[in-house]
Amino acid sequence: MPARRTPAPKKSVMRPKRPRGGPALRAHAALLLDRLLERYPDAHCALDFHNAFELLCATILSAQCTDKRVNMVTPALFARYPDARALAAARQEDVEEIIKSTGFFRSKAKSLIGMATALVERHGGEVPSDMAALVVLPGVGRKTANVILGNAFGRNDGIVVDTHVTRLSNRLGLTSQSDAVKIEQALLPLFPQERWTMLSHLLIDHGRQICDAKKPRCGECLLADVCPSAGLGT
Ligand code: SF4
Repeated sequence: MPARRTPAPKKSVMRPKRPRGGPALRAHAALLLDRLLERYPDAHCALDFHNAFELLCATILSAQCTDKRVNMVTPALFARYPDARALAAARQEDVEEIIKSTGFFRSKAKSLIGMATALVERHGGEVPSDMAALVVLPGVGRKTANVILGNAFGRNDGIVVDTHVTRLSNRLGLTSQSDAVKIEQALLPLFPQERWTMLSHLLIDHGRQICDAKKPRCGECLLADVCPSAGLGT
């Protein structure tokens, strides 16, 4: 009978601990911000737009769709419907035809026309620059409102929490929440307000380039020595 082989011990990965407590967590957040700013100094919104109305349309279209695909569709949409009045008067099937490739095109077309109608009826055709007015527009939630306020109006009223920000905030030990609103509430006190919009861009860029959802490239990550999830992708 062949001798039983003892299984080789599993390779252990030395991971930094999750920072606990306010001061340690704030110091951790500051370090992450510094490094990400150095790595992605030009991080910005990946959606193409020229004004708040265009960004609002593009952000509604970006639900469950890549920014790249949205950018392929919006030139035709904005050429045909350059402002809220034009879009409010659009036929739904015409809008659907243009935005079809972004997915969920029926509900998105409905949201776009509903949003444009609300802008015309309540705001003289202009996009409002405050959270309370934005979140009651059809198709607009807090995430979309944060995108508009931060990128079209330069206001740091909140932090955009998308799938990348959710994943990275957890992996980096900034929060253990999974709900977007709770994640945003956890992140707000950790970062200077003037960086809130930029923070989302940084986490999104790092998520796209290195900290992939399925295969994080920890070996190439500039945060590996301070990330409590380092080694996840090895
Ligand atoms: S790639 Fe790895 S080390 Fe870098 S942030 Fe993601 S999980 Fe952490």
